[in-house]
Amino acid sequence: MAARAMRPEDWVRVRPEGLYVEPGNFFVDPGRVVETAIITHGHSDHARAGNGRVAATQATLDIMTQRMNRKPWRDCQALAYGERLQVGDVTVWLAPAGHVLGSAQVVLEYAGQRVVISGDYKRQSDPTCAAFELVPCDVFVTEATFGLPVFQHPDPGYEVTRLLHSREIYPNRSVVVHAYSLGKAQRMLALLRAADYQRPIYVAPIILGVCEIYRKHGIDLGDLRALDQLENNPGSEIILAPPSKPGEGIVGKLRDPLIVMASGWMTVRKHARGRGAELPLVISDHADWNELVSTIQDLAPEEVWVTHGREDALILQTQRLGIKARALSAIGNGAGAEQ
Ligand SMILES: [Zn+2]
Ligand SMILES: [Zn+2]
Repeated sequence: MAARAMRPEDWVRVRPEGLYVEPGNFFVDPGRVVETAIITHGHSDHARAGNGRVAATQATLDIMTQRMNRKPWRDCQALAYGERLQVGDVTVWLAPAGHVLGSAQVVLEYAGQRVVISGDYKRQSDPTCAAFELVPCDVFVTEATFGLPVFQHPDPGYEVTRLLHSREIYPNRSVVVHAYSLGKAQRMLALLRAADYQRPIYVAPIILGVCEIYRKHGIDLGDLRALDQLENNPGSEIILAPPSKPGEGIVGKLRDPLIVMASGWMTVRKHARGRGAELPLVISDHADWNELVSTIQDLAPEEVWVTHGREDALILQTQRLGIKARALSAIGNGAGAEQ
């Protein structure tokens, strides 16, 4: 009897620590401490401290070093996009994911097969990071954070115009924009500058630190000031701060600020109200439903493995396109149905 041909799930599988690549004995974005890890980007649900050896882009290594209190690794290796790294029998390289500065898709090549792990990604243009690249592959492992048809992200330039319009309507109210400190905050700054808003922008310390890394990597975000430089009555100045509970943080210190929240979740009214956002802006660093589906169509891989979010709808839609699809969690633990 002829030996069954090797399938991707024979060498890439899910383990308790995370996604494991057996012929290289390493993990991608492990959730637990491991000996060898490839990290897609600096967000804390992908990049954790304490691994033995870590490979990632230089920007991701810089972000991890700055954001983590303890030593993020024993050894690290910076990989430029496209640079090949041999790990055991696997060739590994990184391609831009368009998510945040330094974000990468992980490309794995072994036994004549290519598996691409998207990490978090988006297709919308974003001047603060390298644009997503389509890498043809046998298996595409895709995120699905906004994997429901209800999620259709509008033009972010239009969303920022709404912010600047509100600011004109309320000239005596300062504007507090809540945005996550890595990625979203810098994108908001870039969008404001692209809309020709050239005044100083006041930013929370944690955001300022990340902006420094962006600046070091050549991303100019204009005149940024620390929050303590804010005058008592800041008028209609724009202030950028991470999300906080209503009335807490900088918001609690200002008189009647206009609260803006920038997030892909603002599509859902309940989320906007829960955040106390007077002006919810739908600005996301993740692919929306159409981007997820069109990326799968563009790549037309043999198979799609879905993870990190709403899996069922995207699996169904991929199967409708005539492409095999299943949940990543079903790979390598015996639960993967032939589909
Ligand atoms: Zn992320
Ligand atoms: Zn993520």
